[in-house]
Amino acid sequence: MKYAVIGAGWAGSSAAVELVKRGHEVHLFEASRTLGGRARQVNGLGLLVDNGQHILLGAYKGTLTLLDSLGVDQKKVFSRLPLQICYADTVAGIELIAWKLPAPMHILGALLLAKGLSTADKMALARFSSSAQWMGWQLNTDCSVDELLQRFDQTDNAIRSIWRPLCLAALNTPAQRASAQVFLNVLKDSLAANRAASDMLIPRTDLTALLPQAAAAFIEDNNGKVYLGCNVSSLYKNDTQWRLEVQQSIRPSYEAFDGVVIATQPDIAKKLLMSVDLAELIPEFEYESITTCYLKYSSTVKLPRPFLTLNERPADAAWGQYVFDRGQTNQQAGLLAVVVSASQVAIEQGRSELALNCAKQLARELGQAELALPKSNLIITEKHATFSCTPGLKRPSNHLPIPGLVLAGDYTDSRYPATLESAVQSGLIAATALSDLDRRLRE
Ligand SMILES: Cc1cc2nc3c(=O)[nH]c(=O)nc-3n(C[C@H](O)[C@H](O)[C@H](O)COP(=O)(O)OP(=O)(O)OC[C@H]3O[C@@H](n4cnc5c(N)ncnc54)[C@H](O)[C@@H]3O)c2cc1C
Repeated sequence: MKYAVIGAGWAGSSAAVELVKRGHEVHLFEASRTLGGRARQVNGLGLLVDNGQHILLGAYKGTLTLLDSLGVDQKKVFSRLPLQICYADTVAGIELIAWKLPAPMHILGALLLAKGLSTADKMALARFSSSAQWMGWQLNTDCSVDELLQRFDQTDNAIRSIWRPLCLAALNTPAQRASAQVFLNVLKDSLAANRAASDMLIPRTDLTALLPQAAAAFIEDNNGKVYLGCNVSSLYKNDTQWRLEVQQSIRPSYEAFDGVVIATQPDIAKKLLMSVDLAELIPEFEYESITTCYLKYSSTVKLPRPFLTLNERPADAAWGQYVFDRGQTNQQAGLLAVVVSASQVAIEQGRSELALNCAKQLARELGQAELALPKSNLIITEKHATFSCTPGLKRPSNHLPIPGLVLAGDYTDSRYPATLESAVQSGLIAATALSDLDRRLRE
């Protein structure tokens, strides 16, 4: 069979690879000149950086299995660290690091030796885990993460220093309006599973090289085609065959396909589905932005750890929530990446002011005055980084009520928030559905 995949983000890459593995010919269309979508390489500060600093979890089974199958050596492409929350601010002094012991000892050990947390905080964290386990990590009715934390009787310090930063990192939605059920799903698969599942994986290569490039090479090596700068504007069905309208000069639109995977962002999927009168299946999502503030210092600047948690205090213009040392992970000595999730308010002050404030925050929290004066900076804001992962949110199915057409993307129905893992899993589900349906029709 010959299939078209529209969009070469992580969902489209995953769908395309799965279809190739099932013996089909795949044509992958990407509007941009760079593969990877919202997880892609960017040229900046004379370096190859990413559109946003990413972190993966050992629990990302779909993604890690896909990388393995493409021959990507995980030891080379990831810095694998035990789960940790270590604050840069030595005054706050919180340090919580999972032990290298089988579950649940890895977490119990972390709590036992945690610095900067009172006994009441530690008891509260242990209580969260036992209460969630008792409920089977399942809520009868979804509520906000903040409500769940109140229900589980968490201390103010545990909420402020542990749960809120974790929730923002996992769901990119502040705890006041984030879905408690989706948060529990992520915690169940990471904290409550085996120790390796809770590991944090920081990419050592740029994000385009990590998966999408390896996927594209696999597709082209197996009789497929990858078109960059190819914006698909509409699709239509002729008997059993699909055709695509493509805006660019290379016009592969004369080609006919047996099926199509739409793996674009939801608003574009909605437009494409207008051609087949199915646009109403995609809801209007609310979005959260993420800003990554790259600060370049002399190559001798090094953090005490590959990444640290920052003390977010908007009232003091301290917007950063995490800082990554790209010298320790990506061989970019002196380059620090400050992450501001749900950055809608932070970016209102303008780029140079935000860069200045992030640098001042680092200088203050790490107690190193020279960090206030980076040599250069690069601010990248992804305004539609992820959908707002709110309680009870309805997400569209990968299956569509028309043969030969399926959806993939981090926004489709999943237990996970908008992540690389939900994108990859959605691609796998979409490709399987397409391929299985055709097999059944042929039989
Ligand atoms: C700054 C930032 C930080 C993040 N941090 C993390 C993190 O730490 N961990 C994590 O797991 N997740 C993180 N995420 C989320 C993760 O990046 C996304 O969930 C994931 O990349 C979404 O992949 P996707 O394939 O579903 O969508 P996309 O990446 O949006 O892919 C859609 C693709 O379709 C293409 N396209 C659109 N229209 C057309 C068209 N008409 N024709 C052809 N092609 C088209 C687009 O150009 C794009 O390449 C982060 C996201 C951002 C933005």
